[in-house]
Amino acid sequence: MKPPPLHSAPVDAAERVSARPVVCYPPEVIPILDRSAVESARAARTKVGEVLVPPRDARVFQVPAGQFFRIISVEGAQVGDLNLHNAGDLTERFFSGKTRALHGTHLSTGDRMWSTLPHLRSLATITDDTLDWYGYDSDGGGVHDVIGTRCDPYTHQLLTGDDYHHCCHSNLTRALANYAARPEHEVELLVHDVLNVFMCTGFTRDTHQYFMKASPARPGDYLEFLADVDLVGVLSACPGGDCGDEHSSDTAICHPLLVEIFDGPSPVGWKLAEPSAYVWPT
Ligand SMILES: [Zn+2]
Repeated sequence: MKPPPLHSAPVDAAERVSARPVVCYPPEVIPILDRSAVESARAARTKVGEVLVPPRDARVFQVPAGQFFRIISVEGAQVGDLNLHNAGDLTERFFSGKTRALHGTHLSTGDRMWSTLPHLRSLATITDDTLDWYGYDSDGGGVHDVIGTRCDPYTHQLLTGDDYHHCCHSNLTRALANYAARPEHEVELLVHDVLNVFMCTGFTRDTHQYFMKASPARPGDYLEFLADVDLVGVLSACPGGDCGDEHSSDTAICHPLLVEIFDGPSPVGWKLAEPSAYVWPT
């Protein structure tokens, strides 16, 4: 929260604040997936694997390019913190900030999860969202945000003085270290800002502070993705549970999350995502 201003408004303040807002990154030029092609591919696929993510823990899953996966709410409302990596190069990973700039503060069907520079390609496209009815509520809250980062033990220590070892950052680090067979202090550098699956968040209208409210997800709700490259996903079942009260503690009621992976024909028109065509001048 910012302190009261120390400087009085200039005489032309009204004119200065009346400038027209311009959308920074209009995403309309980004090709959109053909909905009927997605539905046909969905009808022809079979489930070939599933990973159950225990509460206050994380698990890795792999999805080949052109295949679907779903993150499903089971047992009760639960927030999931999702990291995505290019399976061939774990340093190419989800770029939350640019995804937010392109698609807005919360993601849903049709939005893509972009990768870090210099690659800047779609790692995955969201193909279905059973919570798309939620939109934005009267508090300005929405579901599946890319504005939060992930709960982490460092911020928790800063704010409370306590050490908590099952923050999403910690869980994601341990799971990726186990997958990569590398020390936690090395792979921790690859853990990144997440897609907050099923989390309901926004900014307060008066102070624009980040807020959360209980997730509206219920068992059976899911978010479905199409992998646009070979993916390594890491999903943490947040220790905040439905994130309706607090996180980074063992007090919230937590539930597992289920990841389902499918195999079948890719949607007609789908193409493997290529890295950015930008070339530095020589
Ligand atoms: Zn968390």
